[in-house]
Amino acid sequence: MRLITIALLCLLLSGCSLFGRKAIPGDGFLVLENQRTGERSAVQYRLPPAGALDPAGLWQLSYIMRDTKTGEAAPIDPALFDFIDSLTGALGLPPQAVVVITSGYRSRATNNSLRRNGGQAAENSYHIRAQAADIKIPGVPGSKVAAMAKQLRRGGVAYYASSDHVHVDVGPVRSWKAN
Ligand SMILES: [Zn+2]
Repeated sequence: MRLITIALLCLLLSGCSLFGRKAIPGDGFLVLENQRTGERSAVQYRLPPAGALDPAGLWQLSYIMRDTKTGEAAPIDPALFDFIDSLTGALGLPPQAVVVITSGYRSRATNNSLRRNGGQAAENSYHIRAQAADIKIPGVPGSKVAAMAKQLRRGGVAYYASSDHVHVDVGPVRSWKAN
């Protein structure tokens, strides 16, 4: 009963910022897998009870999202982890659901080489700023992931139909057509 009261209060206040953001599902737990290396990390990156960020957990997730071409890792913006965490929650997936990272942080060199080779990479991509991820969620069509990500209005979202991956970033709320 007390929990229900708290939940209702949170809804009423709608800014109940247990996790620093609006009351969107998100438990501060993520399972990320690097598509290229197959490495997987299950990390509680926000700690109960108040949802404080855990630096060791953030680093573990950032390492999974490193630039695998150069080996460089960069501290990923925690807001991106919150975005992905909210997304799996909003899709109704269990906390253990695996999110596959097809591209995370990119060094400028890697981003430039992608552009030279005709890849769909923006010159000042949020990947370079460690604020973007290209993701796949096994068992969930990319189009559905992208539609839900857009609804959350946490940043940029694009669905790449040819590879069935979804780009998410924590830049301005926007979306674009890709193929
Ligand atoms: Zn991307």
